[in-house]
Amino acid sequence: MTKKMIINEKIINGILKKTGKPSAGRVREILKKAALKKGLSLEEAGYLVNLKDKKLIQELFKTAARIKNEIYGERLVFFAPLYVSDYCVNECEYCNFHKKNTESTRKKLSFDEIEQQVKHLINTGHKRILLELGEDPEKNTIDYVAGVVRKIYSVRTPKGNIRRINVNIAATTVENYRKLKKAQIGTYQLFQETYHRATFKKLHQGPKADYDRQITAHDRAFKAGIDDVGLGVLFGMYDWRFEVLGLLSHSQYLEKKFNVGPHTISVPRFRPAPTVTYKPEYTVSDDDFLKLIAIIRLSVPYTGMIISTRESAQIRRKAFHIGISQASAASVTVVGGYGKAEGLGGQFEVSDERPLNEVIKNVLKDKLLPSFCTACYRLGRTGEHFMELSKPGNIHKFCRPNGLLTFAEYLEDFARTNGTYKLGNKVISHYLKEINDRDMRALVEKKLNEIRNGSRDLYF
Ligand code: SAM
Ligand code: SF4
Repeated sequence: MTKKMIINEKIINGILKKTGKPSAGRVREILKKAALKKGLSLEEAGYLVNLKDKKLIQELFKTAARIKNEIYGERLVFFAPLYVSDYCVNECEYCNFHKKNTESTRKKLSFDEIEQQVKHLINTGHKRILLELGEDPEKNTIDYVAGVVRKIYSVRTPKGNIRRINVNIAATTVENYRKLKKAQIGTYQLFQETYHRATFKKLHQGPKADYDRQITAHDRAFKAGIDDVGLGVLFGMYDWRFEVLGLLSHSQYLEKKFNVGPHTISVPRFRPAPTVTYKPEYTVSDDDFLKLIAIIRLSVPYTGMIISTRESAQIRRKAFHIGISQASAASVTVVGGYGKAEGLGGQFEVSDERPLNEVIKNVLKDKLLPSFCTACYRLGRTGEHFMELSKPGNIHKFCRPNGLLTFAEYLEDFARTNGTYKLGNKVISHYLKEINDRDMRALVEKKLNEIRNGSRDLYF
């Protein structure tokens, strides 16, 4: 398969036209098929992105909620981004780290500074990090990035350590991806930003302006042995309906070629940023945003879906129920910004600024189970092996126990005195009872007690 076949704009535009007026009958047929959790074709997804009928949209949300629940259950995995360098040679119109920003002083963290940042994150309860850097072949070399990954893993505090590091850095070579693999990264995430070639060209200058380099990056990561990769679009730059079909095309391409679809799909929406004058031409409304999350959940049912603090607490709350399985919390997009009072000069403005504990408290009120699980990756359940488990919904049998254990750890270490402890343990008891396998349930109960008595990092 050639790179041309990852996205065929003519085909996508043709589908968007053909599916412009979806009938209720056809939509219900598609929802019924989606409920089987085998995904959707581009054309089927086309009918859904063109959906306007309010009643049918509610049915779409209901189906998405059901699929999310059957595959990912009640769990919501939390992580924090860590920005270690904002040096960047690119001119992305939408990003505050673009080269033309001469107002901010650029910063690249030393390993000592990284240790301080990581300690801060560990001490607020995080176990998973998404590493973020600008693209600068001289300042942010791959050896620096791999060194940062190793450094982060090495940081220990009495409250634990970071157990999984996902990486979001510029498209690079197979050789460089091999170095990341060797440093034991989790998922390699890279957003296409927009699948629309002309828009991509308009909004980028510098090495990132190469659309083909960007869209083939995941192929190179696979070649280097990284088998958990993440896709994403920066919504607002082009018609969201086109972008959703783009994401689906890319997912289907990866699945066909490597037998592994995207481990995650991220759905960032454009946010204002200090030196950015760009105004998105295709602003996505809240209603359409929720719709696109639900459609992606139906189209690529097994994929982890990520929402960030770019979104408000209200939107996040809704999104958690219709497809999202991972969320960042208490994020700072300023390099070295954790634990500092000043929050200026970040990549973009965040919207949900609540501390992790508050996010968790609200999630619990909605009967969701916060999870800090990192077991799959540490036990080699990645790539094809992970897909074999997640597609039929079997990942459930590990996720719920691991979610319960990692959340129990969180409660013991970070929530004993802040009012979340009681509610959290109530939610744990509730979902413990929902483990059908009696032996597994007894084992989880035993391990929960061990955690309450001081054991840590127990997982299946
Ligand atoms: N520099 C690398 C790259 O561009 O691929 C790593 C990722 S960058 C630090 C993280 C992501 O932030 C970008 O891929 C982009 O989608 C998103 N982003 C940039 N500017 C943004 C803005 N103003 N609002 C929301 N998201 C933004
Ligand atoms: Fe640099 Fe990434 Fe920002 Fe573009 S999105 S300016 S590559 S940090």
